[in-house]
Amino acid sequence: MLRNDQLESWDRENFFHPSTHLAQFARGELPQRVVTGGSGVFIEDRDGNKLMDAFAGLYCVNVGYGRTEIADAIAAQAKELAYYHSYVGHGTEASITLAKMILDRAPANMSKVYFGLGGSDANETNIKLVWYMNNILGRPEKKKIISRWRGYHGSGLMTGSLTGLELFHKKFDLPLTQVIHTEAPYYFRRPDAAMTEAEFTAHCAAELEKLIEAEGADTIAAFIGEPVLGTGGIVPPPAGYWEAIQKVLKKHDILLIADEVVTGFGRLGTMFGSDHYGIEADIITIAKGLTSAYAPLSGSIVSDKVWKVLEQGTDEFGAIGHGWTYSAHPIGAAAGVANLRLIDSLGLVENAGTVGAYLNRAMKEALGDHAHVGDIRGEGMLCAVEFVEDRDARRFFGAERKVGPQIAAALLKRDVIGRAMPQGDILGFAPPLCLTQDEADRIVAATQEAVSEVL
Ligand code: PLP
Repeated sequence: MLRNDQLESWDRENFFHPSTHLAQFARGELPQRVVTGGSGVFIEDRDGNKLMDAFAGLYCVNVGYGRTEIADAIAAQAKELAYYHSYVGHGTEASITLAKMILDRAPANMSKVYFGLGGSDANETNIKLVWYMNNILGRPEKKKIISRWRGYHGSGLMTGSLTGLELFHKKFDLPLTQVIHTEAPYYFRRPDAAMTEAEFTAHCAAELEKLIEAEGADTIAAFIGEPVLGTGGIVPPPAGYWEAIQKVLKKHDILLIADEVVTGFGRLGTMFGSDHYGIEADIITIAKGLTSAYAPLSGSIVSDKVWKVLEQGTDEFGAIGHGWTYSAHPIGAAAGVANLRLIDSLGLVENAGTVGAYLNRAMKEALGDHAHVGDIRGEGMLCAVEFVEDRDARRFFGAERKVGPQIAAALLKRDVIGRAMPQGDILGFAPPLCLTQDEADRIVAATQEAVSEVL
């Protein structure tokens, strides 16, 4: 085994880490952690620390760490057939079975799955499909995509543009021109404190309609949104939001892409976030929970309505010119099949609903009255605590965002991993769906201590 100091210098000299302050890392100002193992909701590092991962990696290790059922399925597939492509009608038993299992679980109007590698490329696929579709339908001007401020849809050129977070645009010349943003469904940060939730929902729908009318509905192809805003701050929508938004989209003949990369496969206590909120999407993005991150795999689930146009297009123009070498990679597909079986056999969708509600309730009881806690919110196995300078005046700590990272660091000292969300002083939790009530109690107790230390 390599010595720690050897690994640390190789890491600093060679490894370009994503989403990292590169200069601080190079100067040795950021912690280096070499992760070596995991079991259930815990990970271990080379220094012997055992940490409770209350963010499931990047909200993706939904079944928890160390599941031998998935590891064995991956090994068996690698030994039998590590790779073959899925172009021009090729497939494997794993990829064909997984497509069937996804459709069996998806909302009733869904028709087919296109496989990718990660959430970003799946959303790139979705935008290409929507553009292709409108070209086939003879409306080449109908191409703009609406997303929300604080939405997160990936880090690619198009998906980074759809993402409505400044950090992902800054100095990258994004967003691209085909993307327009509308209001985030963020009741806690509503423009007027006097607004009721219902009034705020009506306001979001009105803002959307205003934008559509200003741009022209005949220039707008689709709206993309996460059922619950994730990376933008873990923000469940206000009551009635999705019903109101869908009414506006239908009126203007605009497609709806539900980005379920975080919410798909149980995180909200229902198989999909679309089930939870009554969303009838034209395309659903899936990734993370599809394999619980045991292997990279994503997908675009397309509805009957979309599929019919795609079929018509290929009859007119030939094979669809969109494919990844690793679409439906057999190892990812084998991981997906084993993962979905495990989610069913362990009852993890139901557990996410019950233990997630318990976690949110316990967090509110512990911290709801704290002078610097402005909001505690969540849905299913998602929970966020938002810190403010003055809760009555709804005055935030300011653009520098120090408090969230400080509290996440204080939490880590207590061997619990939460995530300082990238915009605002918000501490996020998205534990594996197998979390127990005792483990939820530990998250809450550690958070309470961390908050007391910092504020
Ligand atoms: N969409 C959502 C809602 C996400 O949360 C993410 C990642 O966090 C993505 C898309 C991008 O997925 P990936 O990082 O796998 O490209």
